[in-house]
Amino acid sequence: TPSSTPSAAPASEALFARARAVTPGGVNSPVRAFAAVGGSPRFITSAKGAWLTDADGNEMVDLICSWGPMLLGHAHPEVQAAVQAAVARGTSYGAPTVPEVELAEEIVARAPVEKVRFTSSGTEASMSAIRLARGFTGRDVVVKFAGCYHGHVDALLASAGSGLATFAVPGTPGVPASATELTLVLPYNDREAVTAVFAEHGDRIACLVTEASPGNMGVVPPEPGFNEFLSRTCAEHGALFVSDEVMTGFRASRQGYWGIDGAVEGWTPDLVVMGKVMGGGFPAAAFGGRADVMARLAPEGPVYQAGTLSGNPVATTAGLTTLRLATDEVYDHLTKAGEVVKAGVTDALDAAGVAHAVQSAGTMFSVFLTEGPVRDFAEASRTDAGAYAAFFHAMLDRGVYLPPSAYESWFLSAAHDDRAIQTILDALPDAARAAAAA
Ligand code: PMP
Repeated sequence: TPSSTPSAAPASEALFARARAVTPGGVNSPVRAFAAVGGSPRFITSAKGAWLTDADGNEMVDLICSWGPMLLGHAHPEVQAAVQAAVARGTSYGAPTVPEVELAEEIVARAPVEKVRFTSSGTEASMSAIRLARGFTGRDVVVKFAGCYHGHVDALLASAGSGLATFAVPGTPGVPASATELTLVLPYNDREAVTAVFAEHGDRIACLVTEASPGNMGVVPPEPGFNEFLSRTCAEHGALFVSDEVMTGFRASRQGYWGIDGAVEGWTPDLVVMGKVMGGGFPAAAFGGRADVMARLAPEGPVYQAGTLSGNPVATTAGLTTLRLATDEVYDHLTKAGEVVKAGVTDALDAAGVAHAVQSAGTMFSVFLTEGPVRDFAEASRTDAGAYAAFFHAMLDRGVYLPPSAYESWFLSAAHDDRAIQTILDALPDAARAAAAA
């Protein structure tokens, strides 16, 4: 049974102190540190289904799902059994294996790609996709959107320069100006900005990279026809359209976000970046796309790309088993559970008088504490981070683990059953009042 509230976390606090002594900020990825919401992060000791258990024994409904991968819930028995069997056969050989072929076949069957190459992280996959786009086109310029995250790739850790069609400046110390001087950053959902940069720089643009539906500034779906417009604009200028589905792939729908509007609007990406769900909770990611573009990759072509653990047999077994179990019923469940949670959030925030916008992209959604609709990063930035911090901690004290940042998607799983959903609904009214009082 869940612990009584509010939950105390002395064991996590002690672990955080130890972690900070040996690891910068005590974490291995910044958002885990609770910097945006304050307080000490929970150290997780186990997870099962929809529930996390921390070092103090607190049980919490998980609305992060490892930031997306755990589509089936934690410790799914069939995924675990497949992984254990794979581990028993040895964990890495540095030679081709069966599960990587089977996972590639499964991905090609679902996503709009003819060939895929595996990597160990989404960052590597997007870095490699951009290298391939540059190698294929013989051009150097990359276009991206503000608020879209594609991993910590130097050229993509860029902020917009002073004007629309000016090249970007590094978004972090450590990235040289030379790494972003070929990157153009535009406001999301802004067709005029896209048209303007392609008019000015079109013959130098190797690719435009975008999240298929952004989830890293909160969920900001493309306006109807926007992806199709991007795809067409790229084609007109001989540039590649790179769709980043690391977060949305096999999550927003069975086929990713492309399955939601690609089929209807008729756009097809030249390259797709994937990760998260397709790794089933292990370090596996991929990029794929048109056969003629992928043929430029070593050893078939001249564009170099490699990895010691790429296509690792344990990771690809986890991903393959996850995708095979990710049936239409799973996506129906995510849709229905999401509708119930979104309605609960809306009711609670309405009752407390907190301005909000709940936005969705297929089965993904997020909650902005500002008036909507939120169309781009500038509008997402208006969310009330202080109110979110109060909301977050009130939920955590009541056994619900939300993303520790106001700019993240909320993730459900097939294992979020009535008890888990009810725990969320029960926590919401108090949390909404805490947000109102912040
Ligand atoms: N692209 C998108 C859309 C992502 O959401 C992420 C991770 N959140 C990445 C790329 C980077 O993936 P990784 O963290 O595996 O490097």
